[in-house]
Amino acid sequence: MTSVASSTPVLGSASPALSPSPTPWTLATAREVYDAPFNDLLFRAHTIHRAHFDPNRVQLSKLLNIKSGGCPEDCGYCSQSAHNPTGLKASKLMEVDEVLAQARTAKAGGATRFCMGAAWRSPKDRDLATLTAMVEGVKALGLETCMTLGMLSPSQAEGLAAAGLDYYNHNIDTSDRFYGEIVTTRRFADRLETLGHVRAAGIKVCCGGILGMGEAADDRIDMLVTLASLDEAPESVPINMLIPIPGSKLAEAAPVDPFAFIRIVALARIMMPKSHVRLTAGRAAMSDEMQALCFFAGANSIFIGDTLLTAANPGDDRDSSLLHRLGMTAEVMGEAG
Ligand code: SAM
Ligand code: SF4
Repeated sequence: MTSVASSTPVLGSASPALSPSPTPWTLATAREVYDAPFNDLLFRAHTIHRAHFDPNRVQLSKLLNIKSGGCPEDCGYCSQSAHNPTGLKASKLMEVDEVLAQARTAKAGGATRFCMGAAWRSPKDRDLATLTAMVEGVKALGLETCMTLGMLSPSQAEGLAAAGLDYYNHNIDTSDRFYGEIVTTRRFADRLETLGHVRAAGIKVCCGGILGMGEAADDRIDMLVTLASLDEAPESVPINMLIPIPGSKLAEAAPVDPFAFIRIVALARIMMPKSHVRLTAGRAAMSDEMQALCFFAGANSIFIGDTLLTAANPGDDRDSSLLHRLGMTAEVMGEAG
């Protein structure tokens, strides 16, 4: 067995994780960084993280499902797809006042951003007046606003921008190559097209994906290469760990190796140094130690509250205890990004 000393590059040697970032990124250059020794990879990611952010601050968002279930898309992971017999009851679009009441509670809980998600392929134009009223109302509370409503037309993006929408979430979820294994009712290109409309309308982009759907490491890395290669990298990059939903196509998916997940967080930080990297779905199943390593690797945003759309989230007590024990505090409005 080769001794550890001979097989591990010493600090400062040509460990790929320590060499300068090549741009534009390719799957090959990103893979080389990803495969570096774990400590080298995290050392580089943390160094880059510190150069752009306070490593002891975390941005808190709250995600509310403003319209649940009955979605015509067949996303294999989703509890809200009408194609997945998950037993979720469909609901109609929430009233504006109900949404604003939830936003007030989120603000009181320390959130600086309020995200409103709808189980739609795309919003209908007839819903835009209600949606823009929600954006205006949440903004008036002094919160950043985010929506995730499915695919948008240019005029829908412009309408939301005119109402003051700050962010639009639209995840590409995986690589272009693997996308058809997960969703067949739309194309990877359709997601990129909506991101283009969002960017053209002047709304900040929130775009990331999911690990644990049966994809290969190269698919996870290629997803980051796609994001880092956009004309402008997303301001917010959510990294989800699959929550296997009973009744969904991915109910029996194998769990993600925690170190492989943390490597992707570190790679996202290295490839998109100025973006907020959000530790998103799946945190309820992550150990405190895994989350702490993700923060060290450059994750600096989480969703608070005990539900994420329709799934479990750690909840405020566990989150505040974890952040307190780590000596981390919440970002305040307008602090970064
Ligand atoms: N219907 C909108 C759309 O598809 O763009 C809203 C999406 S909403 C934010 C759901 C997002 O959360 C998906 O884009 C996916 O990345 C993530 N997600 C959904 N179900 C998940 C699950 N079971 N496990 C992990 N992530 C999930
Ligand atoms: Fe519909 Fe969005 Fe769920 Fe896909 S992720 S099924 S588009 S709600």
